[in-house]
Amino acid sequence: MFSFHNTTDIHFGAGVITTIEEVLQDAGYESIILVASNSQVKNGVSDLLKSLLSGKIKDTVSNIEPNPTVDNVDSIIEACHSFKADAIIAVGGGSTMDAAKAAAAAVVRDVDARTIIDDKRVNGALDVIALPTTSGSASEGTPFSVISDKERGLKVSLNSPDLYPKHAFVDPELTYTCPPSVTAISGIDVICHALDSIGSKNHNPISDAIHLKALKLAFGNLETAFNEPDNVTARKNMALASTMAGIGFSQTMTSGSHATSYYLTSEFDIPHAEACAFTLDQWILYNAEIDNRMDNISAELGFKNTREMSDAINDLKETLGLRMTFEDLAIEREYIPEIARQAMAAGNFRNNLAELTEDEMIEMLERK
Ligand SMILES: [Zn+2]
Repeated sequence: MFSFHNTTDIHFGAGVITTIEEVLQDAGYESIILVASNSQVKNGVSDLLKSLLSGKIKDTVSNIEPNPTVDNVDSIIEACHSFKADAIIAVGGGSTMDAAKAAAAAVVRDVDARTIIDDKRVNGALDVIALPTTSGSASEGTPFSVISDKERGLKVSLNSPDLYPKHAFVDPELTYTCPPSVTAISGIDVICHALDSIGSKNHNPISDAIHLKALKLAFGNLETAFNEPDNVTARKNMALASTMAGIGFSQTMTSGSHATSYYLTSEFDIPHAEACAFTLDQWILYNAEIDNRMDNISAELGFKNTREMSDAINDLKETLGLRMTFEDLAIEREYIPEIARQAMAAGNFRNNLAELTEDEMIEMLERK
């Protein structure tokens, strides 16, 4: 038995950004706050949006940090109240979209960012229109928002159907200026999302089919998008892979590799997807022992079995310049037991099909 529910209207294709005025017309927004990553302000996309939506964008909030903070969210909330906003447009990577989604919920409750990450109560939200500029986070089609409270050393994930963006405009042209290092890290996140979801206890036949297609696109195009930033087909296919993986994991949530990543990010500053990819090759092997879907999906992707897919993931990580060992990450091995304990404390650790003990977690990490 399963349900499948995703409320985001997705508009996909090169140049789809230019349809935004027409698509939003019926909603009749009069006061929109634009949340834009600094690169989108610099490269003129925020100005393009202002001209497309003549006079409706009342203020722009930028300077969102890579792991968005309560201060970032509070600055969006403040702008929404000042201009009595009826919608937020977020253009940027996962951090920009996550900050906008948390603010949209806080505005409706009339609370600040810290209150909402403390009680995690979401009762409605302003409409969010999301325009991803990287192919990876897929926040444009998920009900999640991850916010950091640096002062208190917290990273909190909000999860509510009200956090689905109202519209997602997935325009591959917005990713053309994405530098190779960002293409690599966001792209490997797509593979982590898909394989974590296939290895999630919440998987279902629809999510599996979506993730299989997302994996085909990502394995087939990530290296090209990394080596040839101007390759329009590779960019389009990675944008599609990312959005599809997002629709899938909006249902299943992530599992082992994401659970293991959070402490690596919060304590050692390892970028989100590099931290997920660090143990992904191992997690799929454990999950293959529990469920033969992992071998079947590996075969459909052209690999002999999950072991061969695991090796291919490591080859891909090497090609993309991602770090593979604790030495590469400059993390002392004495931290391994704590990294294992922190992973096991993460909510999505329990979503994982293979239920690893603390000793098995330590053993897995020691292979790195
Ligand atoms: Zn991720």
